[in-house]
Amino acid sequence: HTPISLSIHNTLTQIDCTKIPFVLPFTYYRRYIMKDKNAWNNYSPEELKSLENLNKGYIDFISEGKTERECTELLVKMAEAHGYRDLNEVIKNNETLSIGSKVYAVNMNKCLITFNIGEDIVNCGMNILGAHIDSPRIDLKQNPLYETDEFAYLDTQYYGGIKKYQWVTMPLALHGVIAKKDGTVVNVNIGEDPSDPVFFISDLLIHLAQDQMQLTAAKLIDGENMDIVFGTQPLDSESESAVKANVLKLLKDKYGIEEDDFWSAEIEAVPAGRAREAGLDRSLILGYGHDDRSCAYTSAVALFEVENPKTTTCGLFVDKEEIGSYGATGMQSHFFEDIVRELLDRLGIYTELNAARVLRNSRMLSSDVSATYDPMYADKFSKRNAALFGRGIVFNKYTGSRGKGGSNDANAEYLGKLRAIMHKHNVMFQSAELGKVDVGGGGTIAYILALYGMEVVDSGIAVLNMHAPYEAVSKSDVYEAYKGYKAFIIEA
Ligand code: MN
Ligand code: MN
Repeated sequence: HTPISLSIHNTLTQIDCTKIPFVLPFTYYRRYIMKDKNAWNNYSPEELKSLENLNKGYIDFISEGKTERECTELLVKMAEAHGYRDLNEVIKNNETLSIGSKVYAVNMNKCLITFNIGEDIVNCGMNILGAHIDSPRIDLKQNPLYETDEFAYLDTQYYGGIKKYQWVTMPLALHGVIAKKDGTVVNVNIGEDPSDPVFFISDLLIHLAQDQMQLTAAKLIDGENMDIVFGTQPLDSESESAVKANVLKLLKDKYGIEEDDFWSAEIEAVPAGRAREAGLDRSLILGYGHDDRSCAYTSAVALFEVENPKTTTCGLFVDKEEIGSYGATGMQSHFFEDIVRELLDRLGIYTELNAARVLRNSRMLSSDVSATYDPMYADKFSKRNAALFGRGIVFNKYTGSRGKGGSNDANAEYLGKLRAIMHKHNVMFQSAELGKVDVGGGGTIAYILALYGMEVVDSGIAVLNMHAPYEAVSKSDVYEAYKGYKAFIIEA
């Protein structure tokens, strides 16, 4: 008899339906059809165990990686533990790469690219997972320290889109680096150890807030009033600005830091303390920086677990997404394509045309978070097209605002292919848009990779209270995202 073709171009009458179970194995077919809409209802005890394991690792990751630098360091450690080598070393030693080689490249300690070389990179391109590892926060200014009315303050500028009123009166930790004149770089991390002090931004007491309470939320907290309380104890009774003098003395004694060292520092104030399980059923994780470290972590685990992929895999973990992907470490930088050129050079196949082909023939999941439908604000979502907790990895065909403005808007053919992959690997997935038409919007790095002519779609984990100091995700969505990313890099 003639073999069955399931090609869409054949009419249904040409397919012998009795043969379908040979094409789709019955067990897989049944599992898919009987699947409950809520992922939690589909897990076997073994699957629940891997779900908990993954989320345990993820809680550690976001509790320890609170800046793009810290995330880069953690991701490099993960990559090296899985046999990845620094591409710079490979270049320096004039070594060659081949199928099976695993390398990574770091740019300025703030972004990371990984490659696992598969077959025919020029014609097959790469399966790319790209996430960002910067999150909204409060940055110190370059001349931050001052004293007024016997308070020592750190002057700040916020980073990314925040509701400023959410960031006052909560414990903050300071993370970052100070680059000293002698070339040494001092790591700063104060406020995470339970014995450390924490910092905070004050807010006006409710008793005196009659006028303040009349302001709109955008104006409630003035950006210039978001200065961090740094100290109140004077050094002695003689010194001028004695409170400032005292914190300067502490900085000098503990970190060897002078006041002018702030000039060449990057210090970020972030919510202090670890991410936690949330809900009595522990189904959620409440923590800082799910956007977009939940996608970065799940992408990394998926990438590093796949040994000897047929198609080359590529992980992009970039900085500066929250402020428009600018800067040398943001996605708009040429770093990525330059590293692709270096890679081809090491493979012995570098030409400009090959570099362009590798990029054009690639596929990407721009792995970034999506907005979870919030029943408390139901009128801001179009429920049929909103992401729900527990319904799996989210695909956003388009993002943008005011009529898909600034959106990548992925191709139907690509979505069709991804849908088949997700089905095949029993991954729960859903499609969504950020919110109702005309209520706002947002963007990701998707459009930047699409510039190379490759297929790109946004996909990631649904987040509740996105950009708040503490955001929430569902553990089952973290798990399904990991499964989805793994399926993508194996099959796409
Ligand atoms: Mn994001
Ligand atoms: Mn964001």
